[in-house]
Amino acid sequence: MEANPAPDAHPSTVPPSSASKQTQHAQTVALHADTHLNTSTDVAPPMHTSTTFTYTSDPAGLIPASHAPDPWAPDTPHVYSRETAPNSTRLETILAEIIGAPTVTYGSGLAAISALYTLLNPKKVAITGGYHGAHGVLAIFERLTGVTKVSLEDAEKELGKGDVIHLETPVNPSGECRDIARYAKIAKAKGALLIIDSTLGPPPLQDPFAHGADIVMHSGTKYFGGHSDLLLGTLSTRNKEWMAQLAEDRTYLGNVAGNMEAWLGVRSVRTLGIRVERQSANATKLVEWLEAGKRGENVKGGAVVKKVVKQVLHASVQSKESGEAWIKEQMSGGWGPLFSFILSDEEAAKRLPSKLKCFMHATSLGGVESLIEWRAMSDTTCDTKLLRVSVGIENWEDLRDDFIQAFEALAAELGL
Ligand SMILES: *Cc1c(COP(=O)(O)O)cnc(C)c1O
Repeated sequence: MEANPAPDAHPSTVPPSSASKQTQHAQTVALHADTHLNTSTDVAPPMHTSTTFTYTSDPAGLIPASHAPDPWAPDTPHVYSRETAPNSTRLETILAEIIGAPTVTYGSGLAAISALYTLLNPKKVAITGGYHGAHGVLAIFERLTGVTKVSLEDAEKELGKGDVIHLETPVNPSGECRDIARYAKIAKAKGALLIIDSTLGPPPLQDPFAHGADIVMHSGTKYFGGHSDLLLGTLSTRNKEWMAQLAEDRTYLGNVAGNMEAWLGVRSVRTLGIRVERQSANATKLVEWLEAGKRGENVKGGAVVKKVVKQVLHASVQSKESGEAWIKEQMSGGWGPLFSFILSDEEAAKRLPSKLKCFMHATSLGGVESLIEWRAMSDTTCDTKLLRVSVGIENWEDLRDDFIQAFEALAAELGL
């Protein structure tokens, strides 16, 4: 029989540090970090759809309004699924090991960002460009709290104690990197906090904590989900007070991940490592090929690439062109699977997606299938000649050949 835990007004909600962490790799813990939470003999985790859970049948164990000292502990009973639920607890347990810090999940990436600003309530946020939705969240907080945005460039000059540097890296839609360690130094000097939107650089590609991040956020909708079929957000931090507050706030904000989504999330993160490694390798090869074609090198389809593609944007290109060592160091696990390229004019960019067979024309990213987006469709601030590519797990040469036939069709149609 499960014992009700003792009441605790300020519960420490940090998952117990797992012994496996020191000795096993992310690819292994993704499969086994949640084994101790299995309540059945099923090998595949069961889906729990219940919103509510029975109390202990032992009257002596009924303690009014008690708080669990550790909602992630295997013997903590679930009470109501707006607080904790079996599927999301398993997912959070795995993600904590993979991301490297206690993690809470949310119903979407933007739900995580709004929970973050609810927690930190800064007066100023340094943010430049990146995912447009983050600016949408900040517009709500501007209305509610009067928070103001300043550019990243002005962070050092403008920020004070308790303010936030909101750094997305790699950044949407170029896939280029920003220097986490550099902004960590600025944040520290000003008493500000550094939060990293690491969505485009999922594990094992980069570890923002290793470079000084205070909180790491992911849109789990992208690489954690990986199959374009679930909305999810995550916040991770090693600060115990923040973690406890985030867990408590989430109960009242009510922005939890759904049971079905959390179940799909567990299924998905099992394969995170092999998906991301393949997607990263594919993107790197495609970018190398496009760059070689642009330089006039003798590669397959090189001539049509030179004719059609004006510029390629990706951290690998940024690293080569700038020669700065921190870029490769920060992306020590491989380059991001998302890149962009720019064509000669808007009409060409608008027409290209309809000529591709392996890339679906859609927004979002991170799924096993390759997507391309004429980015002006969802981001009005974006260059209308830009196409954003989210590379999937297909064979990269098939993706390359698909680009070649589409570039050739486009060149013939527009007389390029
Ligand atoms: C998609 C995305 C978000 C928002 O995530 P949702 O899950 O769609 O709410 C935030 N940041 C980045 C970098 C994203 O790509």
